[in-house]
Amino acid sequence: SLTAGIVGLPNVGKSTLFNAITQAGAEAANYPFATIDPNVGIVEVPDNRLQKLTEMVNPKKTIPTAFEFTDIAGIVKGASKGEGLGNQFLSHIRQVDAICHVVRCFSDDNITHVSGQVNPIEDIETINLELILADLETVTKRFGRVEKMAKQKDKEALVEYDVLSKLKAAFEEDKPARAIDFSEEEMKVVQQYHLLTIKPVLYVANVGEEEIQNPEGNENLQAVKEYAENEGSNVITVCAKIESEIAELEGEEKEMFLEELGIEESGLDQLIKASYDMLGLATFFTAGEKEVRAWTFKKGMKAPQAAGVIHSDFERGFIRAETVSYEDLVDAGSMTVAKERGKVRSEGKDYVVQDGDVILFRFNV
Ligand code: GDP
Repeated sequence: SLTAGIVGLPNVGKSTLFNAITQAGAEAANYPFATIDPNVGIVEVPDNRLQKLTEMVNPKKTIPTAFEFTDIAGIVKGASKGEGLGNQFLSHIRQVDAICHVVRCFSDDNITHVSGQVNPIEDIETINLELILADLETVTKRFGRVEKMAKQKDKEALVEYDVLSKLKAAFEEDKPARAIDFSEEEMKVVQQYHLLTIKPVLYVANVGEEEIQNPEGNENLQAVKEYAENEGSNVITVCAKIESEIAELEGEEKEMFLEELGIEESGLDQLIKASYDMLGLATFFTAGEKEVRAWTFKKGMKAPQAAGVIHSDFERGFIRAETVSYEDLVDAGSMTVAKERGKVRSEGKDYVVQDGDVILFRFNV
């Protein structure tokens, strides 16, 4: 399954946020490099539709779909020089599919900042620079091999030569690979390099407790937004400290606390949804009397592949997918009425599954 890695400089609130994710509540430590080992935290993907379907079908149980975060701690500065813990940091990033970059936007004199003052853009650039330098090395090595072939007018080598030149030029201007517009053909070449800066990034601005109702007043946040926009990335705002409190609550208690705080959705829920989105993930449902369940699939998947998310036998023996959209089903009020209205389609192996589809797979065993 796809995972998003949480990165950030020391003391920006990563552990606090990650603890909210795992609800482990382990103590956040006020000194740099407190956490070194990567950790995986599994969260339920919040989805109001699951509740609605449950009310309608009244199943024995309801199972949400899950999403995985990896906590990537470790030494950042100098990582691209390939020494010890820094090297580990880069190799952990290489293994994740997307990056959640936590940036300190809160002021708190009691909390040491590694460079002495809160400066989110400098912080972002510190990490991004290490990733860019590592990618520059990858590209430079490849250049050596391709240059000769390109001189001999090898067609593929010429395309690759162009791609490498674009990448190198961008890196030399401190720009990440994700900020470059590549054609589809070029993108295929780029993907072979497994670059760090091609991975999508979500900036997670960690603002102060007193700012969570009206974070727009935070100048640091505005700076992060501007920076992100320039490279085509998204930003969400959280207060990690409050998130760790919210994470301990459930149901009505959680609703009440959020209301008290004057926010509609917890930062963690926003983080989960935005990460899910960034990875091109979506949800389909199965809704039987035994179980109503949400499943994660990658947008663009066809029906047999989506069936394979449930079980490989479903994919192998796929016959058809009886499908109704969530909206049509809820509109109808029951599967029977949806069928009467002709809203339940029988889809074959070329059907591209859509977010919100409620599906009954027919398969041979
Ligand atoms: P990490 O090194 O990035 O994992 O940072 P931590 O999560 O350990 O946080 C460092 C310190 O900042 C801890 O003392 C946290 O309690 C504090 N901290 C984290 N988030 C917030 C926040 O939103 N507001 C305030 N005031 N302090 C925070």
